[in-house]
Amino acid sequence: MTNPKSNYTPGAKPYSLRIGWLYPDLMNTYGDRGNVIVLQKRCQWRGIKTEIKEIGIGTSDKDFLSCDLLLMGGAQDTQQEVVAKDLKDKKKTFKAMVENGIPGLYICGGFQYLGEYYKTANGNKLPQLGILNMYTQNPGRERLIGNIAIDAKNLFGKTTILIGFENHGGRTILGKGIKPLGKVLKGFGSNDSAKEEGAIYKNSIGTYFHGPVLPKNPLLADYLIKTALELKYGKKFELEKLDDSLEEKARKVIAKRLSVAI
Ligand code: GLN
Repeated sequence: MTNPKSNYTPGAKPYSLRIGWLYPDLMNTYGDRGNVIVLQKRCQWRGIKTEIKEIGIGTSDKDFLSCDLLLMGGAQDTQQEVVAKDLKDKKKTFKAMVENGIPGLYICGGFQYLGEYYKTANGNKLPQLGILNMYTQNPGRERLIGNIAIDAKNLFGKTTILIGFENHGGRTILGKGIKPLGKVLKGFGSNDSAKEEGAIYKNSIGTYFHGPVLPKNPLLADYLIKTALELKYGKKFELEKLDDSLEEKARKVIAKRLSVAI
């Protein structure tokens, strides 16, 4: 196992990750940018270099393919229509990256892109990437809004509470073979009835958690960093522990409001 910081010898090339931030100008609501900052800081505190590569309209496949980790935030339906058009050109590359296990965090509208289609509140059926066997429909009625807590055992292999905030009109239905990220303990989740939230496919994680999700869930941030390092360098990594007491406090405030034990 490699601990990036303790194994770093002065003068040696530090470990590095190139983070691809998809459509930062269009897909970035409810503080999703915070996820980028968290990944950068948690890497920096451990001596891991990061580079943020913005991927948007006009970005070449070569630049896209050079990323070790992908992030995509959410948006309103209007921006999603613009991005859906552009994504058509990136579909092949995007799909290859997900299939090759490039870790990614896809929030809300970003999560919806991984599926077959998204039917907007106006009834426009936007074809999506079709990487995951799932689809989303926005019936145009009440939005699913509020704090949420889930048990993300499917990702971590043991009960692990993730805390977040959701605000979406779309209801996502998972098809066969796609695991949800977690079981809803409090809040809505991906749709009105299933009591499940998000999805996991290879190293890609889809979720409706805004807020942003990573400051309140450092375990999820570290999962992404570790997975990206392991894939890039082809060996196991043991990430140095950080002082997460502030993050824990924030989690506890929301958990208390939701009456969920963490
Ligand atoms: N516009 C989409 C919906 O309402 C996505 C929302 C979001 O990303 N917050 O479901």
